[in-house]
Amino acid sequence: MKDIPRSKWHRVLKGLEPLSVRIVCPTCGGISRLDHDIADNGCVTPSVVCANEGCSFHRWICLVDWDKGNILTSMDRKLEE
Ligand SMILES: [Zn+2]
Repeated sequence: MKDIPRSKWHRVLKGLEPLSVRIVCPTCGGISRLDHDIADNGCVTPSVVCANEGCSFHRWICLVDWDKGNILTSMDRKLEE
């Protein structure tokens, strides 16, 4: 199980509604979108495979300081349309 610190995950927002969670891959630094279930304690199921071709990251992860998607911070991004 790999912990993803708060600085390495963020939500992408549309208006006030959180759209999705993205993480910075601990191996390659690329961005991967999570299409996963996130438990109240931040643990993500199923395991996460990096979207970057050539990156071997494939781990079970937990989002540190996961707040069930309620609290927005400067690390979250607004989706530009
Ligand atoms: Zn990667």
